[in-house]
Amino acid sequence: MRTIVYTAEIDDRFGAGKVSSRIGLSSPARLFNQHTSLKDEINNEHQREPIHCVLVDESQFLTREQVYALSDVVDELDIPVLCYGLRTDFRGELFTGSQYLLAWSDKLVELKTICFCGRKASMVLRLDQEGRPYNEGEQVVIGGNERYVSVCRKHYKEALTEGSLATIQNRVRG
Ligand SMILES: [Zn+2]
Repeated sequence: MRTIVYTAEIDDRFGAGKVSSRIGLSSPARLFNQHTSLKDEINNEHQREPIHCVLVDESQFLTREQVYALSDVVDELDIPVLCYGLRTDFRGELFTGSQYLLAWSDKLVELKTICFCGRKASMVLRLDQEGRPYNEGEQVVIGGNERYVSVCRKHYKEALTEGSLATIQNRVRG
């Protein structure tokens, strides 16, 4: 199977142009930013040598037009496209890419993450250097020292109200 793997230029956690999974597998990846013509690139590659699958990591960073172009890749080129990304940002707002993927995808698969309390984690808290949660500012901070923690909705709200995640964790854990 000839697969093309993309990841967002913004994500440099694993070094440029590489997608890594938590179980240790990794693959070289092409980078996309909001100006990348995904359909043209994929089509050109496909004409050169047939592609069987396209995988897009960090797909929350796709633009509306790019999600639409990827749907053309499926509908016109008949190549399956798999997108993996976050649904919401630390403010609880949909990322643009995720908004249109949720709207236009053929199939949605929700990967479950668990909060420290055992409930389903549906929210992402952004913590500053001192571990204090905050939900204001830019959607994406490049090269910052903040940390992201997946929590359930209840503890997302409580952490923001209390101004501390640790306090709530200590209370819940007794
Ligand atoms: Zn929780």
